[in-house]
Amino acid sequence: MYSFDYQRPGDRAAAVAAIQGDARFLAGGQSLVQALKLRLSSTERLVDLGGIPDLKGIRVDGGNVVIGAMTTHAAVALSPDVQKAIPALAELAGGIGDQMVRNMGTIGGSIANADPAACYPAGVLGLGATVHTNKRTIAADAFFTGLYTTALADGELITAVSFPAPQKAAYIKYKQPASRFALVGVFVSQGAGGVRVAVTGAKSAVFRATEIEQALARSFTPEAAKAVSLSPAGMNADLHATAEYRAAMVSVMAARAVAAANAR
Ligand SMILES: Cc1cc2nc3c(=O)[nH]c(=O)nc-3n(C[C@H](O)[C@H](O)[C@H](O)COP(=O)(O)OP(=O)(O)OC[C@H]3O[C@@H](n4cnc5c(N)ncnc54)[C@H](O)[C@@H]3O)c2cc1C
Repeated sequence: MYSFDYQRPGDRAAAVAAIQGDARFLAGGQSLVQALKLRLSSTERLVDLGGIPDLKGIRVDGGNVVIGAMTTHAAVALSPDVQKAIPALAELAGGIGDQMVRNMGTIGGSIANADPAACYPAGVLGLGATVHTNKRTIAADAFFTGLYTTALADGELITAVSFPAPQKAAYIKYKQPASRFALVGVFVSQGAGGVRVAVTGAKSAVFRATEIEQALARSFTPEAAKAVSLSPAGMNADLHATAEYRAAMVSVMAARAVAAANAR
């Protein structure tokens, strides 16, 4: 780890003021600290968001569940509000990593990091959520822009994510057994905005499987999802799975997610 300055501001304005120059926000540290320790990343200043109370918490606002950026995965998994309004999201959070990762990792950190195999990006895109920052709101469809990249500008602070409650939803991932990240994970929802199918782990960034969405709009059944064959072109290939395997798994995980959503 290279040396850096550390600051822990007490409010949002101070955090944004401190992020000038070569500086990074620190949330749960589950991705960033590891990258710093391995010298894959470096920064002159870490601005710890842990001392800003109003970045944490969950509230229901009409038909939306609004989750503060510094809310941990464990808090989302255990929230009665999330369990009632969007059980699929509580289950997604409860399936991230292990208990220690869930106690420390945050929703804001996860989506800012935009790991191609992370779970929350699938939930955000699959539910058509809205990302709130200190400057603006960003629709999920415009937020994830590539491998570890998002629409966030330098120094832009995620403050919360709001999720519209769907009629039906489920998230199913085929886990990489060591890390529990998604080898392929599929979030399916049916709601006011129609059917959405978001896939993580299969390409360089989370994406919507529009062919499966169209099939499910005609018939929201596991059979309809499974009948769709995705092209392996552009899919990830590594020592864990080939591109062809991942392409096949997208339809299989989508079918299982539809079955789980219909069974609630
Ligand atoms: C062993 C292990 C297993 C894991 N398994 C899974 C898994 O199964 N599924 C999964 O989805 N994830 C998994 N993760 C990742 C985990 O969910 C992390 O919590 C997450 O990726 C990063 O969240 P964080 O709060 O720790 O962010 P940090 O590591 O603190 O920050 C990550 C990045 O986000 C930026 N950032 C943080 N907060 C904000 C904000 N509010 N506004 C703007 N930028 C911000 C930081 O500057 C940094 O660039 C795993 C991690 C580990 C170590």
